[in-house]
Amino acid sequence: MILRARTVVTMDGPPIENGAVRVRGDRILEVGESSQLASSNDEIVDLGEHILLPGLINAHCHLDYTCLRGKIAPPQSFADWIRAINAEKAKLSAEDYVVSINQGLAEAKQFGTTAIANLTAFPELIAKTDEPIWAWWFAELIDVRNRAQNLTALSRQVSGVNGIVNRALEQLSAANQRGFAPHAPFTASANLYRCCEEIAQREKIFLTTHLAESREEMQMFREANGPLYDFLKEIGRDMSDCGGTTPLSRFADLTDASAAQGWIVAHLNEVSETDFDLLRKRKFSIVHCPRSHAYFGHTDFQFERLRELDFNVCLGTDSLASNDDLSLFAEMRKFQERFHFEPQKVLEMVTINPARALKQRDQLGKIRQRFMANIIALPFTKSPHIFETILNFVGKVPWIMLHGRISS
Ligand SMILES: [Zn+2]
Repeated sequence: MILRARTVVTMDGPPIENGAVRVRGDRILEVGESSQLASSNDEIVDLGEHILLPGLINAHCHLDYTCLRGKIAPPQSFADWIRAINAEKAKLSAEDYVVSINQGLAEAKQFGTTAIANLTAFPELIAKTDEPIWAWWFAELIDVRNRAQNLTALSRQVSGVNGIVNRALEQLSAANQRGFAPHAPFTASANLYRCCEEIAQREKIFLTTHLAESREEMQMFREANGPLYDFLKEIGRDMSDCGGTTPLSRFADLTDASAAQGWIVAHLNEVSETDFDLLRKRKFSIVHCPRSHAYFGHTDFQFERLRELDFNVCLGTDSLASNDDLSLFAEMRKFQERFHFEPQKVLEMVTINPARALKQRDQLGKIRQRFMANIIALPFTKSPHIFETILNFVGKVPWIMLHGRISS
């Protein structure tokens, strides 16, 4: 099959005017100007006045909570938000979660997302979900002592860190791409982090975590006080790791320096000057979630400094408990509004950069020979600024190709 369009934005060189892409099976065979691609016996799909670009990749999301859209008002305190989401979660059944995940996958696809890094507290439900796009399933793991209702079904059933992680590994067998997500240094123990890292290395699976998201998390680790500290102490967490440290330095203690590069770290809003010394030595991928960040009113994301240190920064939506929808176009616009970064580079944050974070740089994020044929089309508008046109796209993406198949 040959796809033709007014412009092909490959993310692998300058856009190609009157471009064409030859697709066979699930792969891209050839990319060039229409006039250069001989049609031979290929079926031609002429998209006319459209821009073709790689399918977008969401680097951080929790589709479990798609059904919580609009349910929780922006909170005064992060600890209050955790209480509020726990109260909402207590009302949901396994069936509700399956519906929620499926609705999220369908919505992400409508917005042109063709791959997603999704954290789920219920890896046992993966087999029951549809998979209209390429999903990386990260089992979200928590072992903070907790008398309240936010214990996952998983941690109720098994005891001990090894049990938790091995059970999750078993449940992840239904997933094509698997990962562990020890939730955060304030909800996952040192043993849980170490065990996840060890098994992930052995099984060659992915690792992600939340880190340094809120002021209260920084306050808890640095000063051993504040609303998050009080909340966690109250539910029985061992608080002896708090005081005189930072979330990042705690994470560095919990994880193996040589494996650091494999981690996908969500947020990293709270970074002290001593943390920056550490960041010069340790590299990992970072996911910034611009609209969720604004909802919480978190400390300004230190994008320029992290970029100077050569971090691979990606964008994500986070869950709809703190966001309006799963559009990465809206995330790009929000990011652009704050950082005035070159639009082409912003588009890299939902294509090339997350492909690198997910170790897919040889097959995702570009329209290039031998890459996966995950391609979307947007209406072409007469503007000299094609990347701005892309960032400004609003609505449902009109045409999607997933793994070489035109998708309805
Ligand atoms: Zn998250």
